[in-house]
Amino acid sequence: MKPDSLKNLADEADALLRVQWQQWPEAAGHYAALSQCRERTVEVGGVPVRLQCNPERIRSTASKVDRRSVAQRPCFLCDANRPAEQLSVPVAGRYQLLVNPYPIFPRHFTLPAVEHVPQLLRGRFGDMLQLAAALPACMVFYNGARCGASAPDHMHFQAGNKGFVPIESQWDTLLATQGESRRWEGGVVYSRLTRWPVAMLAFEDDDAEALYAFWERVEALLPVPSGDAEPPVNMLCSFTGTSWRCWAVLRTRHRPWQYDAGGEAQRLVSPGAVDMAGVVITPRETDFLSLSAAELADIYRQVADPSLLDVCLQQLKTRCR
Ligand SMILES: [Zn+2]
Repeated sequence: MKPDSLKNLADEADALLRVQWQQWPEAAGHYAALSQCRERTVEVGGVPVRLQCNPERIRSTASKVDRRSVAQRPCFLCDANRPAEQLSVPVAGRYQLLVNPYPIFPRHFTLPAVEHVPQLLRGRFGDMLQLAAALPACMVFYNGARCGASAPDHMHFQAGNKGFVPIESQWDTLLATQGESRRWEGGVVYSRLTRWPVAMLAFEDDDAEALYAFWERVEALLPVPSGDAEPPVNMLCSFTGTSWRCWAVLRTRHRPWQYDAGGEAQRLVSPGAVDMAGVVITPRETDFLSLSAAELADIYRQVADPSLLDVCLQQLKTRCR
């Protein structure tokens, strides 16, 4: 994308949000309801994880994302199927900027590709870095097709305001208290949190090409499930003004076993990037009230087993100077 084509994006995003709040009552109602959502904090692995009781998110949490179900429903990110009230801003001819009508963040955008193409980060990580730089008040994130995306058939990023997920807002403190960092080929600094029960690889640099090369290297080390086109990941990215911070969640499972359990054992939690960065969305009050720190840690370990990060870091180390 030409950098010039993105230079007004932050202002356009602000304006779009204002207009949609005024002109689209359904979306505005969901933003008003979000401000009333209950939250509670549970410490998991040294991170103050917040539970958000958000009934409107049941659509996403309970969405059927198997190939057959997806093929049978109209795609809600394609122009033809979107609500008439939903406006869009073109982004460099490659994406559109939309206001997400079912927000998790106080300011929550969706950025679908202009074409109906599958959800794949491969070949678009550079776009993600550019979008994060163009939206400096936001964190841009990506959910792999079976990692929390409710539209696995239509490529899209999302963006939400900075200062909201603890992994991003408290990163400096977390890194100082439980971070382990190394440098890759003299450039990109990559880190993990030693107590966080999530296979999360953080990496940071001021050089977009170096970050791209680093992520290509990491991606090549990760297992790809049969039938899939890329390793299952969530990616979060924020631009600090001079450099990018990225957090890759290396996934080992789509949903925890509790999701499909019957009765009292069931937990309707379908983790995506936001959950993995420390804000767990619980559409049902019963889950919101009952999830414990131990159970959250168990869910995290199932869907992003830290032992996968161990293997990945071991392989990366052999290539470091
Ligand atoms: Zn579509």
